[in-house]
Amino acid sequence: MTLHTPKTVSIVVPCFNEAEALPHFLRRIMPVADQTPAYAWEFLFVNDGSKDESERLLVEASAHDPRIKVLSLSRNFGHQRAISAGLDWCEGAYIAVIDADLQDPPEAIPEMLARLDEGFDVVHGVRTDRSADSWAKRTGAALFYRFMRRHVLPDLPENSGDFKAMNRKVLLAVSQYPERVRFLRGALATVGFRQTTVPYARAERSAGHSKYPFWKVVAFSRDAIFSNSIWPLRLALPTGLLVELILVGIVALRCGQAVFSDGPSPTLVEALLALGVGATGALLLFVGIMAEYLKILLFEVKHRPVYLVRQTWNLDPGARKSVRDYNSEHIGFH
Ligand code: UDP
Ligand code: MG
Repeated sequence: MTLHTPKTVSIVVPCFNEAEALPHFLRRIMPVADQTPAYAWEFLFVNDGSKDESERLLVEASAHDPRIKVLSLSRNFGHQRAISAGLDWCEGAYIAVIDADLQDPPEAIPEMLARLDEGFDVVHGVRTDRSADSWAKRTGAALFYRFMRRHVLPDLPENSGDFKAMNRKVLLAVSQYPERVRFLRGALATVGFRQTTVPYARAERSAGHSKYPFWKVVAFSRDAIFSNSIWPLRLALPTGLLVELILVGIVALRCGQAVFSDGPSPTLVEALLALGVGATGALLLFVGIMAEYLKILLFEVKHRPVYLVRQTWNLDPGARKSVRDYNSEHIGFH
């Protein structure tokens, strides 16, 4: 008789200064695990250089429950890199990523796992109700997703953040993406496999405040666009051509007028000046765009580690598996 070993599920939770939210989070997520004994659970909290009591709270929790594992990064590396760290260190056959602030409901995870059991490889949590977010955030997000789907990543699910579940097949696939400028949801939109969505209502933050001020959201959106598309670069050629055409048109028109009237037309100088100012603006814009690509290239070429680990709890520091070395049969996904 073969013993049935439950499928392991890793819950990856990036945390940056979440001391206020973490007690609420633990109170909500642990019952979800306890009520779903069909899986063996691990909770991998990635402490992304928190300056508050997050680490102490997590370490205390991990002392009482071996399923709670803590990975403290050496400093703040940012949300996306913290998720990458969690994905590298988790061991589950199924993996779910969830924020620590309870804006994503832990109760939706069993439904996501059920979709994986049905044979889907990626399950995107899709926000059906964003009324908990500010008007500016909702509008910005709507514009961002519309632009991204149209020009950058057609398969990017609308209104889907990083609340997702995937199986290890997909984790292995995205782990082969070596980028330093990380954008998990973009990477998942390009891997293929069988993908589906689970709707959920985005809640208010349970406690604490957002770690994504306006400038960070803008920087995140900019990097997502520039690191996944050469579309902005492509604008340079038609814009340059347009400027040249207008220039040639003005000169031809004014030269014609000059031939048939007395002396040079003063409007020619004005028109050329206006065009000169416009062209210089466009030129500077494209220098700026090229600088963004250079920045990304610099980060990629330097090839520094995506994150550095300072300390772990309930994790064997030497045991970080190279995700590529996993034996798929051993972890038993279908
Ligand atoms: N986070 C992180 N590192 C950061 C910023 C955020 O690990 O540099 C975590 C944060 O603790 C939370 C998740 O990423 O669990 C999402 O951040 P937040 O809720 O502040 O973003 P928002 O929901 O406001 O967009
Ligand atoms: Mg949040």
